[in-house]
Amino acid sequence: MRKVIKGGIVITMDEKKLEKFEKLDIVIEDDVIKELTVNYQGDADVIIDATNKVVMPGLINCHTHLGMSLFRATNDELTLNEWLNKKIWPIEANMTDEDVYYATLFSILEMLESGTTCSNNMYFSSEVAINAVIQTKVRSVFSECLMDNDDKGQDRIEIFKKLYEKYKDNDLISFMVAPHSMYTCSKKYLKECSDLALSYNVPVHIHFCENDEEVKTIKKQYNMDPVKALNKVGLLRNKLILAHGTNISDKGLKILNKKNISICHNPISNLNLGCGIADIDKYNNTLNICLGTDGQGSGNNMNMFYHMSVVDLLQKGIHKNPLSMNSYDVLKIATINGAYALGLEKEIGSIEIGKKADIIIVDINTINSYPSNDIINNIVHNTETINIDTVMINGNILIQNHKLMLNLNKEALKEKIKEMEARLMK
Ligand SMILES: [Zn+2]
Repeated sequence: MRKVIKGGIVITMDEKKLEKFEKLDIVIEDDVIKELTVNYQGDADVIIDATNKVVMPGLINCHTHLGMSLFRATNDELTLNEWLNKKIWPIEANMTDEDVYYATLFSILEMLESGTTCSNNMYFSSEVAINAVIQTKVRSVFSECLMDNDDKGQDRIEIFKKLYEKYKDNDLISFMVAPHSMYTCSKKYLKECSDLALSYNVPVHIHFCENDEEVKTIKKQYNMDPVKALNKVGLLRNKLILAHGTNISDKGLKILNKKNISICHNPISNLNLGCGIADIDKYNNTLNICLGTDGQGSGNNMNMFYHMSVVDLLQKGIHKNPLSMNSYDVLKIATINGAYALGLEKEIGSIEIGKKADIIIVDINTINSYPSNDIINNIVHNTETINIDTVMINGNILIQNHKLMLNLNKEALKEKIKEMEARLMK
């Protein structure tokens, strides 16, 4: 099946090529980008007209918990610890597999409608979440959330191993090993997670240095800087995604330097829970920076465009310097840098020949985004869900002309979430 996206202004995010924002036609053969050309005249089974619209890689959300859609707007006036202990963990303990399935489906819908094509998901009951991903044909990285602060640590590792074996060859699914954090996992367990990830050749995804209290806890537990503690349990041998990293010390940063490590910035979540602001401008010199929304409970929503705008504004604000960040760098953080962090840089994150067709079309002709004096700046700061015209993942069109092409009843799904809310959020 050959699909051609014609006449759009293409932002490739291809690092080898200086962006010219030219009008390009993109020829897609099944799931792969075959040709980038001007005025394509060949055969096509489907032609998508992108005239006067922006065509760009789908966004990559590198830290989220897809099953947390139920927890939207639960974070007011709570610290991270209070929020987890009062609002999250007691309710999660009562969630069934079916609840996680519908909550995941809801998050997937929210992501699609805001132009995200791949997410890195850390949660429990992963198999039902994988079913939701298979049903909706979106790309996702999975990791059963691993912790051993109860007697189920080994069970969780067994669940992960079985899922890995069962789904490792699926085109849209890949895996990471995800110990929840250093404060919910023992040293021995973290070492086991590190070894497991090395043996499967997959990255590790962990919450790290989310706020000052966590840093204090790790320092007390290990009697050393948190980065040295990562090293102590073997995790600096792994390809790593450190979610949050709001306050990594300069000493720690020097140790992380040049290793295969990404910081996943989650600014909205950190602001909501008063965790601080990661100094991305400083980290950027040494580490790969990617972007996450976290779950809706702390991150408000899954709209990566909204989160991108905050990334840019925050850095300019905290450094009192408009040069500390620019819109193109922010767009990299949400696309190609995310692909690197997930180890999927050969497949996604940019529009290049040979890569998978994970592409979105953004309509910039609405009142909120017109005129477009600077396309990248406009895309980063003014894109709302109404601007998302088309979403394609692995060559499949999931949203076209703003219309969801999946066999999913949105109203029925909302009813399901309403029923869960009434039952669980008492
Ligand atoms: Zn998180």
